[in-house]
Amino acid sequence: MTTQEIITKTNAYGAQNYAPKPFVIDHAEGAVVYNPEGERAYDMLSAYSALNFGHRHPEIIQAAKDQLDKVTLTSRAFHNTVLGDFYEKLAKLTGKEMVLPMNTGAEAVETALKTARRWGSFVKKIPDGKQEIICCENNFHGRTISIITMSTDPSARAGFGPFTPGFKIIPYGNARALEEAITENTCAFLAEPIQGEAGIIVPPAGYLKEVREICTRHNILFIADEVQTGFARTGAMFACNLEDVEPDIFILGKALGGGVMPVSAITANKDILGVYEPGSHGSTFGGNPLACAVAIKAMELLVRDNYPRMAKEKGEYFMAKLREIHNPEIIDIRGKGLLIGVEFSVNAAPYVKALIHNGVLAKETHERTIRFAPPIIISYAEMDDALTRIKAALEK
Ligand code: PLP
Repeated sequence: MTTQEIITKTNAYGAQNYAPKPFVIDHAEGAVVYNPEGERAYDMLSAYSALNFGHRHPEIIQAAKDQLDKVTLTSRAFHNTVLGDFYEKLAKLTGKEMVLPMNTGAEAVETALKTARRWGSFVKKIPDGKQEIICCENNFHGRTISIITMSTDPSARAGFGPFTPGFKIIPYGNARALEEAITENTCAFLAEPIQGEAGIIVPPAGYLKEVREICTRHNILFIADEVQTGFARTGAMFACNLEDVEPDIFILGKALGGGVMPVSAITANKDILGVYEPGSHGSTFGGNPLACAVAIKAMELLVRDNYPRMAKEKGEYFMAKLREIHNPEIIDIRGKGLLIGVEFSVNAAPYVKALIHNGVLAKETHERTIRFAPPIIISYAEMDDALTRIKAALEK
């Protein structure tokens, strides 16, 4: 089938909850994708940072194949040979004592919300049903009913009420607003260390440190949603590391699955994750052997090949080259590591069209910001080629 035939069929049968750009991906390797006609393009979105290792990293694919030949799914009613290794690796990587595995980012966020409420009730002794969680304007934490309750994006909420009680929304990047919002019933503060979907919003320097200090002083949990920023994307293993800050709960997903499987988890110490007993939470697919096998390999690669340093150095190079582009409609270039946003004074959709035409897959977020987040394994030669194409598209 041709690109056009595939798009027509996809649009005919699928719910219209996405508006994909007209490039059909047939196969891919590393940082490069190909359409059915064999045309090549650089992937600058990386499945919203889930493809930190690139498409089909050979060692992750091998780990998946080896596991496919053994066992892929077991009931959580029994043990499996890989789950313990996965727990140990993720606990050590995040510096926490315990892990609770799920599948998607949204499920991990829900798990963190439930954990915080239980901790609030069981440990902090907030009357059950009164727990409050503070979150931030312009956040993106996923798409479930409770999560969109926290959203300030009208298109994410319209028609989906009634919503979940127990949330308070404050401005992002403003530590004083956090302090003022806390009551005796507050159990947690939830935030992205860098807001991804909002347009790569980096909070003021020192913000996360202040948040950490306020949460500790008021005995509330600091929950960091590192679903998009985690696993080296921002030039540190976790974006919280950029400010030397340790959250109480890490929410993780996307790249944890090595670009192969949906794998998510939260990690925390025993005094927090110890609030669960059998039957209180779970997921049929959470912690399945195939997911664990690819995640274990992904975590091995992150450390062995020093992905944080790769992302930091390549990110600095990429951002410096982007700054050489002359276009008065570009009003800001920002980001950390290989999570970079280019903000325009106008709607960026025509620029995205020009980029795709030039063989660079990127997409605008919130109309005026284009995100550049290539796989961290992208080579310097590929970056140079992509940057030449980007310059041609953005200087037009
Ligand atoms: N949290 C953050 C920060 C995200 O960026 C995303 C997805 O973009 C999610 C949560 C939700 O993850 P998923 O789409 O896997 O449910």
